[in-house]
Amino acid sequence: MSSLHEECGVFGVFLPDGQTGVVGPAYHALYALQHRGQESCGVAVNSKGIISCYKDVGLVGDVFTREVLEKLPEGSIAVGHCRYGTTGVRNRDNAQPLLVNHLKGGMALCHNGNLVNAGELREKLELNGAIFHTTSDSEVIAYTVTQERLKATSIEQAVLGTMRRIKGAYSLVLVSPQKLIAARDPHGFRPLCMGSLPNGGTVFASESCALDAIGATFVRDVHPGEVVVADNDGVRTLTLNEKCDSTLCVFEFIYFARPDSVIDGSAVHTARLRAGSFLALEHPVQADVVIGVPDSGIDAAIGYARQSGIPYGVGFIKNRYVGRTFIQPGQTARQNAVRIKLNVIGATVKDKRVVLIDDSIVRGTTSARIVSLLREAGAREVHMRLSSPPFRHPCYFGTDIDSTDNLIAANHSVEEIRELIGADSLGYLPVECLDKLADHSTCGFCKGCFTGVYPVAPPQEAAKNKFEIFMSQPEAEKEVAL
Ligand code: SF4
Repeated sequence: MSSLHEECGVFGVFLPDGQTGVVGPAYHALYALQHRGQESCGVAVNSKGIISCYKDVGLVGDVFTREVLEKLPEGSIAVGHCRYGTTGVRNRDNAQPLLVNHLKGGMALCHNGNLVNAGELREKLELNGAIFHTTSDSEVIAYTVTQERLKATSIEQAVLGTMRRIKGAYSLVLVSPQKLIAARDPHGFRPLCMGSLPNGGTVFASESCALDAIGATFVRDVHPGEVVVADNDGVRTLTLNEKCDSTLCVFEFIYFARPDSVIDGSAVHTARLRAGSFLALEHPVQADVVIGVPDSGIDAAIGYARQSGIPYGVGFIKNRYVGRTFIQPGQTARQNAVRIKLNVIGATVKDKRVVLIDDSIVRGTTSARIVSLLREAGAREVHMRLSSPPFRHPCYFGTDIDSTDNLIAANHSVEEIRELIGADSLGYLPVECLDKLADHSTCGFCKGCFTGVYPVAPPQEAAKNKFEIFMSQPEAEKEVAL
């Protein structure tokens, strides 16, 4: 139950030969990607070259009512997005897809990730007369694509040209009047996979669980540095003429992705079982039961139990009806939130020595509350184990932890953290184990938040500060029309 948040999930679908019916797949795929972002969502549909978009703050099931779905045109290409916002404000302007009209036709774009040179690029664009409508770095990408489109021979060449200018993490899907385009940054920070539909359609999604949800067959992952185009001429790819070193965010395996997804060749569920098994080998303890914090601690707890021989037990029931709107900024509200979200099953832990598995500790507040809930329920000892190493450094690539201010491990030793959260013992997954989590994977990993070594240089302070000033501008509410 990490306090760390992913920013987005993306989806795209193309149906060949004038077939229509993309709204249903987009809607169902976004449902499957909801765990990647709960603040806002949207879908853009291309019907005979005209792109319509509907987006709003809220969960997929709340935003896309029957009435809204019926009003969307049944086109042949669609892109969809669900977003977790980092500003703390439910912000409709920053909802995606971003719909852009330019000289060469319309375009709608969805982005998962975070650019490290967005501030710098935005400043240059604004000095040349660009006017931005949102505070999101995704609009910098959209603007850059439209600039590149003026000199490029095709929209896919414009996307490739954009990829030479933007730096950082991005998995993109984009719809033009004729084409669906998917692109992944040269490091492949965020996942993006491709599938096919029984009717010949092509789909792209942040995670393979979205393909399963719509009956699509997994084809392959989009490679780092690759642009894939789907149109009536078929599916083809373009690649950047530069070395692409895969450094997928390892937190996708630990926490962000759904356990039923397969990313870059490895099953997320298996990776979490392995993390638990490594934890049992590295941090053994005499105990009566192993429990996991739902949802992402469960698989690792099963792995720990299997390796150690200590029985696995269901320690918590999660209230699945607590939405993001419930969470208010501030420590007190967060403490109350834990009690509402999780309830201990007393029969599992009473008078027991408990091994408690969670995915990570960010601020430490949630962990302290969970340990205290277990003690209130009668646990005799609580031994906390984390399926990730200590989170000591900020992330600049698409999560909401961009400073060390709230990272307990940045300022405290493991022993100090144990004391602060009130556990009897505390053990983290060693950094060396991260590369062994996904052994079928063909990719390398970003481990920047654990090691402080980043695959791409973090934003320069000057440019970053400037971007933060942009981010703090007041937002104008704007109606979103079908
Ligand atoms: S810094 Fe951490 S959370 Fe961010 S992309 Fe790298 S591994 Fe993932």
